[in-house]
Amino acid sequence: PPTEGRPDTIIVGGGIGGLSTAFALAREGLRVRVLERAKEFGEVGAGLQIAPNCTRILDEYGLLEEAKELGVVPENMVMRDALDSRELVRLDLGELERRYGFPYMVIHRSDLHGLFLRACREAGVDLVTDQTVVDYENLENTAGGARITLADGHTEEAPLVIAADGLRSVARQKLIGDDVVSSDYVAYRAAVPIDAVRDNGIAEKDVTVYVGPRCHFVQYALRGGDMFNQVAVFQSPKALAGQEDWGTPDELDAAFEGTCETVGKGIPLMWRDRWWQMMDRDPIDTWVHGRIVLLGDAAHPPLQYMAQGAIMAIEDGWVLARHVSRLRAEDAAPSAVDWDAALAAYEAVRVEHCRRVLTTARAWGELWHLDGPERLQRNAIMRGLDPAEYAFTDWVYGPTALFPDEEPPMFQPIPLASADIEQSETAVSD
Ligand code: FAD
Repeated sequence: PPTEGRPDTIIVGGGIGGLSTAFALAREGLRVRVLERAKEFGEVGAGLQIAPNCTRILDEYGLLEEAKELGVVPENMVMRDALDSRELVRLDLGELERRYGFPYMVIHRSDLHGLFLRACREAGVDLVTDQTVVDYENLENTAGGARITLADGHTEEAPLVIAADGLRSVARQKLIGDDVVSSDYVAYRAAVPIDAVRDNGIAEKDVTVYVGPRCHFVQYALRGGDMFNQVAVFQSPKALAGQEDWGTPDELDAAFEGTCETVGKGIPLMWRDRWWQMMDRDPIDTWVHGRIVLLGDAAHPPLQYMAQGAIMAIEDGWVLARHVSRLRAEDAAPSAVDWDAALAAYEAVRVEHCRRVLTTARAWGELWHLDGPERLQRNAIMRGLDPAEYAFTDWVYGPTALFPDEEPPMFQPIPLASADIEQSETAVSD
């Protein structure tokens, strides 16, 4: 039933971060209220990759089987060069599942969002749409909680307010005041019936990433294999020239001229009425301000090259709920949480992990988009990688850390500068 009286937690934003956190806290017995700006709960866009560090959490929530039914568990993750289409590296996702105990899967965004929405309803989360939050403040006695103000002027209070309001977070603006960082790259998306692409030379059972000069192209099947997801990302010359209207469809076509046949055949299928200018923000150290806390993209919006944005948001909620559970006397009411300790523990572990993902995503993007001799060098190094060398993935796909000392050492980005150019030329001509 909807919360009567004051909730234990108000969550601003009903995206994947807000809803998954609402569910995680409701499972701990807390009364949770979600306020969403849109008229209806929903997600725009197409596919999401969900790595083992997230399917592990879905499993704990009892949602993994349904997620798998709605999505696809691909066989391999393959990286290819977008110009000559040669394979650079192949990760056997069956092996990956054996290593981490949980699958690497892909799912339609709206299916994952819908899964959390249903779970929240069943858990009694109070879900309210058409609510735009315009201001946040801690109560004078911070231990009493925080207050939010909505666009219609009314206010609400709770012991904890979680801002899960995305890249353009109002809370982030008020508490930190930093700007988004434009990458000058733009993403086009499309989810099409599988029959529309069967003759395009696609690998239906794989996640394939074609990396090319200033562009890349991602493909994988969705919805039990009935649909095919494509993402085309490229650097916009208009953005570099400082023009406002950047990333337009004419730029899409020009960016992918000269790419291999499979990519070339995919480009005309991209949705052309909507595109996503790729932005992130610099990592920040402080997500907790009294009883107002940032979560998901509001705290750590990444460039999407690690495919960990939604996952980090889901991990945030899981970590917070675990600390809530730990920092509550067993015989006390569910709401008797030591919030200061729980929030400190959340911040202590999540800030550093997400900083690593954000900075690696930026570096990874640069590596994908190389041109000329550096592209050839990269290709040679990639072909020489041992996919069974899990140092690449342990730090991100392993179990989500609850405490800083559980965080595995970070994989060092590929030392491109020290690569042997002769070796790369040999490898390219083989
Ligand atoms: P959002 O999804 O932005 O949700 C914020 C919510 O808050 C929205 O519902 C919004 O309406 C609401 N809101 C905003 N302001 C207010 C307000 N003032 N008052 C009330 N409500 C408000 N991640 C992955 O894990 N895997 C992937 O494969 C992947 N691929 C991606 C591909 C692309 C092209 C892009 C762009 C992103 C990708 N991501 C991926 C990242 C992922 O989409 C985001 O990190 C994730 O959706 C963030 O979720 P969130 O709930 O924090 O924010």
